[in-house]
Amino acid sequence: PYISELAELDKKHYLHPTTVPKLHVENGPKLTFSEGEGIYVKCLNGESYIDGLSMLWNVNIGHGNKELAETAKAQMSKLAFSSSFAGFSNEPAVHLAEKLSTMAPGDLNSVFFTSGGSESNDTAFKLARFYWKLQGLPDKRKIIALKQSYHGVTIGAQTATAIPAFHLFSGSGMTEVFHATAHVTNCELGDKSDPNYKGCIRDIVEREGADTIAAIIMEPVQGSGGVHMPPDGYLQAVRKLCDEFNILFIADEVICGFGRTGEMFGVDNWGVVPDLMCVAKGISSGYSQLGGVLLKEKIHDTIVQYDEVLAHGFTYSGHPTACAVALKNIEILERNQVVENVKDMEIVLEDGFNYLKEKHPTVTKSRALGLLSAFELYADREEGIPFDQSILSATEVVEECFKRKLILRPLVSNVGRNIVAIAPPLIINKQQVEEIISILDDAISVFEKKYL
Ligand code: PLP
Repeated sequence: PYISELAELDKKHYLHPTTVPKLHVENGPKLTFSEGEGIYVKCLNGESYIDGLSMLWNVNIGHGNKELAETAKAQMSKLAFSSSFAGFSNEPAVHLAEKLSTMAPGDLNSVFFTSGGSESNDTAFKLARFYWKLQGLPDKRKIIALKQSYHGVTIGAQTATAIPAFHLFSGSGMTEVFHATAHVTNCELGDKSDPNYKGCIRDIVEREGADTIAAIIMEPVQGSGGVHMPPDGYLQAVRKLCDEFNILFIADEVICGFGRTGEMFGVDNWGVVPDLMCVAKGISSGYSQLGGVLLKEKIHDTIVQYDEVLAHGFTYSGHPTACAVALKNIEILERNQVVENVKDMEIVLEDGFNYLKEKHPTVTKSRALGLLSAFELYADREEGIPFDQSILSATEVVEECFKRKLILRPLVSNVGRNIVAIAPPLIINKQQVEEIISILDDAISVFEKKYL
């Protein structure tokens, strides 16, 4: 009775994010989680699931880590919260700021703390505009983001997000945001004969004028927009373009950061140093609500010359408990060589994808960078013919996985809902990766029986 009573309360009192409200008030919650251990989450009804997406791509260290719980308890008992406004500070925030600057590439040596990814991206937009304003260039305000990108839901981050559903929800957002074609390397390197030139970043910069553009934001690997890998050379080309036109490069490392891609940060895969780097999610593995924007020294040095109030900040900027948990999370990532494990598990995952592609004619376009991965489902992969849009192929496969106690996420491509995303906690082992593949194998078999 407790479980059904809780479901009734949920339906009545709890408006859920990114959930179909009508379905939720009809059916109640799909699962109510109550415990977690490693890659597994347990529900109130006693059932256990493999968390194949690290919940929201964020539980990097895995569930149920007692060391993090103890750290939170110790810090909360000592000083749960303190302000960072008006010159106040606290120990964990300072130590975390210093730690991040040693981990981050190049001279990203300071941080502005937030409570999550959307706040980080909005903060980065404001810092970028402020930086140019301080340089006497108040008209450098426009932001270029990429098609298929996801940057969050606050009004600035949502405007930069290119997934249409988020715009349909709230209508217009921040002005002065442009969406460029993603991942066309030649254009960004200046090849105007490239047939994709129209709409690429360089084209937008030239049309709008570099003196009006504050920054370009991108995820090193696009996450919610479909797990799209940039071609080699793309991030370097954008970095070059930013230098050429005096535009700031903002890397949204909210998913990629903290080991997800087999390097500590996504940009490390290509040796690129952004001007501003937004982090959240994996910084604390979801054990505390924390984000931040790392600043290159030239930006920090410009801002610290300002002798009036920096009128930006969140109550929870530099939250001592959140920062203490993040510090411990990073310590564990390093101590247990979790990033090395990600590299090893990527190979196991790739083998699994190859097996699935050999066995299942619908499976194609698999990709993985570390444990950020996906594959697509096509009616005829040789001819590149997608399933009819009415067949939500990825949703069907993900539902079959769900019946087999594996949680994954279907994503939308330009041909329909046909992308299956897989991003388990980074502490996963070989046998567990193989278990995910085995469940996918069964799930795809059921799907193919129905539609082929
Ligand atoms: N940026 C990226 C790449 C994300 O994937 C997300 C969340 O999924 C965000 C930003 C927004 O972060 P948050 O939900 O913590 O505001």
